[in-house]
Amino acid sequence: RPSTQIMNVPFSKWTFVQTLEHLSDMLEHASHRPHPYHLITANPEIVMKYQTDSELRTIMDEADLITPDGSGIVLASRWQGDPIAERVTGCDLLIGLLEQGNRQGWSFYFLGADEHTSQLAVDKITAQYSRVRIAGRHHGFFQAGEEDTIIADIAAAQPDVLVVALGAPAAEKWIYRHRAQLNAKMAFGVGGSLDIIAG
Ligand code: UDP
Repeated sequence: RPSTQIMNVPFSKWTFVQTLEHLSDMLEHASHRPHPYHLITANPEIVMKYQTDSELRTIMDEADLITPDGSGIVLASRWQGDPIAERVTGCDLLIGLLEQGNRQGWSFYFLGADEHTSQLAVDKITAQYSRVRIAGRHHGFFQAGEEDTIIADIAAAQPDVLVVALGAPAAEKWIYRHRAQLNAKMAFGVGGSLDIIAG
């Protein structure tokens, strides 16, 4: 796949539509796997953290796809002479996956945001995308002792898509640490997207 390095981070050069097509194809053909396909939508802040945070570096080096989340990444690619066409953000990909998921009947599990936001976002998604299956949801302000129960809930639900709104890079680290137990086809961090959907 076409990619370009920005400060050693390998960014996909696919457009939004190409990225969504790739993910849809993967979701239609992949089986549920202990290690979900890990999509990372990286903004300049994450690129900077990559330079010094060795855990994050490992996670990003092993990610299945890194998309340019922010105009700063697109600009940097132009300055380097190997331009990325456009931003491919977590929020846009979430909406795109929900639209496609509504056609295909995919299931989604939503982890993160506060309880009120989580409930409101799932209500809005259910209203807007009636054929999307809600595999489950949990707010993102849990204690360490609750983690095993949440992971078991996700694994039992076997979601096609695990959406993690815990902030960045907390979401990426959470997905990576627990990847062997998640039983989802894909997982990605979405920053404040649930807050946006909740309105
Ligand atoms: N969040 C969470 N648990 C936490 C911290 C943050 O669920 O311990 C949620 C927060 O409610 C929001 C999302 O993570 O829905 C993104 O948070 P924020 O915008 O602060 O993170 P950023 O991605 O900007 O670092």
